[in-house]
Amino acid sequence: MSSGLEKAADLQLAGISKSYGKALAVRDLDLEIEGGHLVALLGPSGCGKTTTLRMVAGFERPDVGSIKIGATDITHLPPHRRNLGMVFQNYSLFPHRTVAENIGFGLLMAKVGAAERDRRVAEMLDLIQLQSRGDMYPSQLSGGQQQRVALARSLVVNPKVLLLDEPLGALDKSLRESMQFEIRAMQQRLGITTLLVTHDQEEALSMSDRVAVMSNGRILQTGTPTEVYDRPQTRFVAEFLGTSNIFEGTVAPGGSALMLPGRSAPVDVLLDRPQEPGSALMVSIRPERMTLGAIPVNGPQFEARITGAVFRGNYAAYQVDVPSLKRELFVYRQADGPLGSVSFRLGEATTLGWAPEDAVIVRPE
Ligand code: ATP
Repeated sequence: MSSGLEKAADLQLAGISKSYGKALAVRDLDLEIEGGHLVALLGPSGCGKTTTLRMVAGFERPDVGSIKIGATDITHLPPHRRNLGMVFQNYSLFPHRTVAENIGFGLLMAKVGAAERDRRVAEMLDLIQLQSRGDMYPSQLSGGQQQRVALARSLVVNPKVLLLDEPLGALDKSLRESMQFEIRAMQQRLGITTLLVTHDQEEALSMSDRVAVMSNGRILQTGTPTEVYDRPQTRFVAEFLGTSNIFEGTVAPGGSALMLPGRSAPVDVLLDRPQEPGSALMVSIRPERMTLGAIPVNGPQFEARITGAVFRGNYAAYQVDVPSLKRELFVYRQADGPLGSVSFRLGEATTLGWAPEDAVIVRPE
């Protein structure tokens, strides 16, 4: 456990590539995790995130590139000499050992004496709030509790870096959410440098200091959760991190508006960065940034009709047909009446708009 006085080590991956036969699983990947921070590697199945984590763990060797913890190059060290803690989706606890024995296993292997072992196991049981469960067996615990034990087992040996591979994948939705808070709080309290691998965008956004979005073996964008969500740089990032309305057009004369196909008047989408008139451009606007009914101060507005309306608990989701754009758009609205009430009816005519600064330029790849 970090004392809080000593600075936690950075984790650094530089120029990492890995192929299996002809398939390139990871391509020239750079990633840096500042000491004490949690970075999520987020991407769809097959994008190379597990391969990346396995290279950090030492189960796979990169073809090229280096991995460092602090100043130590660990690229060629065997797994047990890397000083890492690891938690996977399928807890992998020993079923015939008690909770306390599971947690103390790494200390036993390291030949730590019984008294010291008991002290550290008790400290861990405290940390995961299972003080009274040390003598139980894993099968007597809930899934969330088992995952907390797996976490304690990996942390008891004071690793420099914690690796979490889809740690909440086996839990149901409500438990997953409370465990997100719990793991994040524990990680911050211990100040341990952590790499989290997940395909769940909500998990990545809610647990991390920074998110690295991965596709096809590459990191497309790294940033704080708000940066990657609000300012996606590519269509892929915009769409993988949530629902988005994507517009493809050409830059209007003047350089600060977009001409959309089939429409003669330019549409104001961008003010901050003037673009080359006539060039192709793609922008993304989040559904919750669209306005319905109320007219945006300085943005475009369109006659629209509600074609779908669903209640989502704390917000309402609409599908809205905009004849002059010849397409349907997604709009989310916070409840303005009773929580989550749907305030527009199917078929209702209204006005749709957005503020120009909410349209974000994205690259096509
Ligand atoms: P998932 O979430 O499904 O695990 P992932 O993003 O973690 O996906 P990886 O498991 O890293 O992706 O796989 C990346 C690519 O490398 C995939 O195309 C996969 O088929 C391939 N791959 C991974 N491990 C091996 C292996 N041992 N042998 C051959 N190909 C592999």
